Amino acid sequence: MYCPFCSTCDTKVIDSRLVADGHQIRRRRECSECHERFTTFEAAELVMPRIIKRDGSREPFNEDKLRTGLLRALEKRPVSVEQMELSINKLKSQLRATGEREVDSEMLGNIIMNQLKALDKVAYVRFASVYRSFEDIREFGEEIARLGDDEQP
Ligand SMILES: [Zn+2]
Repeated sequence: MYCPFCSTCDTKVIDSRLVADGHQIRRRRECSECHERFTTFEAAELVMPRIIKRDGSREPFNEDKLRTGLLRALEKRPVSVEQMELSINKLKSQLRATGEREVDSEMLGNIIMNQLKALDKVAYVRFASVYRSFEDIREFGEEIARLGDDEQP
């Protein structure tokens, strides 16, 4: 592939390894011209169901949008990028496992929230408060209280 720094077409792979639980290959590349190094990720592209939005319109599943949302929820939380990528993969598997060609955004939201709940409770609450736009502070408090209950044996 072309070098993103000088656009020469000759770059070589200097290291490659499996990441995200074997769902991706990470490659370190070096430009033979300017010697800058950069990283590429390779992952299988599988057909994802389309998302039915609340207004009934459809849009393709957007992994970048999902990643941006998760990053925002996980800001300053003790969760590694690797853990987050793992969650994204699980989430995509779950979506594909529905076998549906279209799923509504509410279902997608629930799958995301379940993954976040397992990953980081604070991130979960952050995401849920934006996604579900809790009606009032009491409802929000109830959700947080329920989180506490989950931790009881
Ligand atoms: Zn270069």
